[in-house]
Order: sequence, then structure tokens, then C-alpha cells
Amino acid sequence: MSAPWRLDRRPRPRALATAVAIVAITVVGGGPLIPGGTPAASAADPRLAEMATPSPFRGMTYTGLSLGKRGSACDGVYEAKSRTGASLGCSHGPDPAPAGTDVRHGRADGELAADLHAGLEEQAGAAADGNDDPGTASAGLGSIGCLADGLTGARVQAIYAVADDRPDRSATVIPTIRATYAPRVDWQINQSAAETGVEAHVRFVTEADAGGGCRLSVPVAHLTVSGDDSFSNTVAELKALGYNRADRKYLVWTDANVLCGVGSVYSDSRPGTNNINNGFAPMFARVDAACWDYAEGHELMHTLGSVQRGAPHATANGHCFDEQDEMCYDDGSGVAMVQTCSGRNGTLFDCNHDDYFYAGVPPASNWLATHWNTFNSSWILNGPLPAVSVVPPLTGSGGGGSTGSTLSPTPPSTPVPPPHASGYWMLTADGHVHPFGDAAFSGEPFPLQAGARAVHLEPTPSGGGYWVLDDAGTVRNYGDADDHGTVPAGRLDHNERAVSLSATPTGDGYWVFTTRGRVLPFGDAGFFGDVSGLALNQPVIGSVATPTGLGYYLFASDGGIFTFGDASFYGSTGGIRLNRPVVAMAVRPARSGYWLVGSDGGLFAFGAAGFYGSMGAVKLNRPVSAVVPGEAGYLMVGEDGGAFSFGDVDFFGSLGVNPPPSPVISVALKT
Ligand SMILES: [Zn+2]
Repeated sequence: MSAPWRLDRRPRPRALATAVAIVAITVVGGGPLIPGGTPAASAADPRLAEMATPSPFRGMTYTGLSLGKRGSACDGVYEAKSRTGASLGCSHGPDPAPAGTDVRHGRADGELAADLHAGLEEQAGAAADGNDDPGTASAGLGSIGCLADGLTGARVQAIYAVADDRPDRSATVIPTIRATYAPRVDWQINQSAAETGVEAHVRFVTEADAGGGCRLSVPVAHLTVSGDDSFSNTVAELKALGYNRADRKYLVWTDANVLCGVGSVYSDSRPGTNNINNGFAPMFARVDAACWDYAEGHELMHTLGSVQRGAPHATANGHCFDEQDEMCYDDGSGVAMVQTCSGRNGTLFDCNHDDYFYAGVPPASNWLATHWNTFNSSWILNGPLPAVSVVPPLTGSGGGGSTGSTLSPTPPSTPVPPPHASGYWMLTADGHVHPFGDAAFSGEPFPLQAGARAVHLEPTPSGGGYWVLDDAGTVRNYGDADDHGTVPAGRLDHNERAVSLSATPTGDGYWVFTTRGRVLPFGDAGFFGDVSGLALNQPVIGSVATPTGLGYYLFASDGGIFTFGDASFYGSTGGIRLNRPVVAMAVRPARSGYWLVGSDGGLFAFGAAGFYGSMGAVKLNRPVSAVVPGEAGYLMVGEDGGAFSFGDVDFFGSLGVNPPPSPVISVALKT
């Protein structure tokens, strides 16, 4: 599937063919090694050519690395060695900086401050960002989970490392790692997992914070003046400092201007937790200052054991060629890049989830069903986080360190309060519309043609009209709602039904969503991808567009959630045993969370969406069938027309005393 997720904050061109090709040609003396995309046929390993002509500008230096021996765990990759020749493990070698980035000039203090502010603002006010410029929107932020004592089991240990001849900027870098860089990595994992309907997180080492919660553990490692000269030197010194545990992956923000990023990885594609990448040696990912907020996820994914040779789209050098994908780029292997997932956010892992990361159980035909799947790594939490680290906003001079004085907090912009609901409509399956409060009756499709059921009522932005969708895909417009089209006869497959309709913010278009996870846009509605190509465990039973109109959610009755465009994933009930299936979803207008509701009235709040009560403990006459969001509350309705308002949503009446013969299946607020 190809879902254009939020665009990257910075361009991430992984197209490094040019640079690599130049290097190779120079060395081979005119032998056309790389151009044209054919692998070297000569006996010379092309990596030898690269090693002989390092590119310090891009961080492509190979000091301390030698080619792995055939048949060893480093076969096909490099072996890092200490100055005395001791093995320091395997690595796929350095990754280049993005075009235009010179790793010899790492992040200045001002850029660090901007990174910190970006993270704090995103954390504080993911809210009210309904006017994001899609051209500058960033990949989102995930969370640092507070898991047990913060130490037990396999964990990613964040480290700030600095050599003795460099200024120690830990006072500003560590808060930035906590606020921005590390949560970004968690987002990459979790959003990638969401593509197959599952939640997943990084198991970081955490420590107690002053507020009784937890925060990311980021010790400072002081290296000798040569400790940052090469990956090998860094690994050797970190091990000597005690960072040598096999149940740790060390993600090292190195305040150096030598490399972009580099990570450990062993050649082992065997499935199962005995994979050598899963806890048999300490493994290291080093990211230097020019590539912070860029290469962390990539290097960590290497240390989880990606990308193994033999994977369907693997390159010879530990990457992949089916873009868009965080691990794919032209790494000089001589393979042509393919835009299989074009438009997808390039920071997400594993286009089509068939090479190294499939969250869930891959179908038997998937290569990952029989080979190493990093989702099964002991370093990945399969499921929601029980508690998360809350990054405190900066106060005063921030950071409290010697170089923190340039940081001052930017107050989050005040969210525009959404208009208060003044009424609502209920829709019954036979096509009757029941208005309450200020909501006006503008018409209804009753009676429907034989066999069709009304499934969704969607108001216009003005509230002066609405569209009604039936399960055959017919859209009818009432009041000031314009006709933007209807699903043509024959467009839906046998057994495929339309399930919901969402209007764009302008009202000049809408999407129709189907049980097979198809998305059919009309008018000014954009297409951001769908799941019609996936084998779904459960049919899609509903969908909700984001308030910007630049994305949407699809959800299934097992609580699985699929996100597209600018829709962010905040968790799902996928890993929770439900008393009753999920029947409805509501997205908070401020877009930083959502609610899922079961047919028993049980409600699950995710992200910043608050819990304002539920019907979970009340014996209902009929199941709950729909929910709509307020800003700080929601309205649920039952099939019998009972209305239950919570938080800031007012009650304007119900059909509960006089239940309709046909069930209420949709409710919409008039605002
Ligand atoms: Zn790489």
C-alpha cells in the first residue's frame, strides 16, 4: 500500500547513487562498476573501492572496519576491530549524510535549540495544529514508555558521548534527545506497525523522574580525544566504560563531526529469538551531530537485525531497494531503486512489510514468516505502553546547564475553541433522520430500495444540511449539501459494502469508505492510500477523516486502526481482549487523540483524548452503535436511540422512550 504520510520536516533524499558511483569509478580507473545498475562482475569487491576512497564530507569513512569473513556472522558486512585486532562485532558500515549535509559541520547550538523547541511544541500542542503546512510538517513524535523498573529485560540505552577535545553540550543535547530525537524513533516504529494494524514501541532504559513518573535514561560518556575518530574506537571505549551488556542496544548520540550514522548488525536471517541479533552481543548505533534527528531510527533498525541478505528487496549492503522506506537507499550495491510505496513517508520501516519488519503475524507467503522479523525482537514492545514519560516544558533558562541559556520556551499557541454543539441528528438503518436541538430536518432517504441500509449521516461544515450514505454506496444530499457524486453501480465488489462517509473541511468533497478498506474520494477529497490490498483479520467497519482533510483513519471491529495522510496513531485495542467488538470511533477535533467504543458502551481513550465516562458498567437495552466527538467529551447513541452525553457535549433529547423499529446506526453533531 502506498500512504503518503506526513511529509518529512527535512528532505531525506536517500538517492546517493551519484556520490557512490563517483567514488567507485575513481578507484576502478574507468571500469564502469556502478552506473547502469549492474553489480560488479570483477573479483574486486566494490566495498574495497569505497573503503579506499573515503568521503569525509558524507561521513563515509571506514577506519577500524574490515570486510567480514565468509561464513562468519560478519559475512557480507564489515567487522569492527580494535587497534589491537580484537573483534568489536559486525556492522554494515557507515551510512551517508543526506545530500547537502557536510558531517564535518555538525549541529550548532541554535539548531539544537530549534530541535528541542520542535519536540516540546509537538508534545505540548499536537493540539490546534489543524493548519499544518503539509510541505513542512514533520514526522510525528511517539512516546518513551515507562515499562516496569525501566531496566529489566532487553532495552535500548540512550547515551550522549563526547570526546575530551570537544565541548560537552550534554545540558542541551540530553533534553533534546528526551523531547525530540528518541520519541521520533518510537514514532517510526509505532507508525510502521500501524500499517499492519498493530501497536509497537521501543523498550528504552528509563529512570524515575521528579514527578513520580519516568524519563529516558541518557548517561554521558566521556571519550578520549581519539574515541570519536571511528566507530571502532567509540565501541571499544564504550565497552571499556561498562556499556557491554548483550541485553542492551546502545543508541549513541555522539557529539562529533566524523560520521553520519553507523550501526551493528549480524548476518543471520533465521527466525526466532535465537537470532544472533537478539541478545548475544552488545550492539551499537552511533549518530553524529550532523545527522541527529535523521539517522537514529535507521541505525537502531540495523542493530535489531536489518536488512538481511535474502530478503526479497535487500541490497547486498544491508539495505533495501523498494522505496519509500527508512532502510532503503542506493547504497552502491548496484541495484536500481524501485518506487513500490511511492508517496509513503520515507521515515517509515519496510515498504509492504515483507523484508524486515512486519508487526503481527505475517501471512505464510511472506518472506518474514520464515525469516528474521525485527518485530519479534526482544527490544520491541508488542502492544500499547502502560505509561509514558511526560517531558516537562522548559522553564527559565532551560536545561540548567552552561550552554542552556539560549533556550527559552515558546508558549504553545492558544487552540481555537471549537464551536459548541447545538444539536444532533440520528439516522436509522431504514433511512429515517431524527433531528434534536438546533439540528434541522432537511430530508431523508426513507424508504430505501430493497436490500439497502442507510449507514452514515454527515453534516455539512455550516450545519445547514447533510449527506446520507447507504451501504450500496449511494450518497444523497440534503439542505445546503452539494452533490459530489455517488459510488457507481458495480464499483463495489460482491460482499463489499459502503460503511461511512467523511466530508472535507470545505464541504466540497467527501470520501466513501468500504468494508474491504477501500477509500473512494469525491470532489476535493484527496487519496492518501487504503488497505484494500491487505488481507484483513476483520472487515473495516468505519472511518473518520482528520479535521485538516489531509488524512483519515480506518478501523476494524477488533480495534485495529490504520492511519493515512496526517492521521496519527495513538494506540489501539488490538492487544486488549475486548468484551464486545469495537463499533465506533471518534477523533478529537484537536486531532491529538481519539476514542474507540465497544457495542457494550465501553470506551477507550487514546492520545490526548480524555476519558469522560462510559456505559461499560451499565446494562443497556440495546447495543451502542455510534459515537461523535466534542472537544472535551463525546456523545454515544444506542441502536434504540438512547443518547448518552459526556463531558462538554450537551444532551438534546433521545428516542429512548419511543425506540424506532429500525436501529439507529449513525449520529452527527450540529455545530
Ligand atoms: Zn544503513
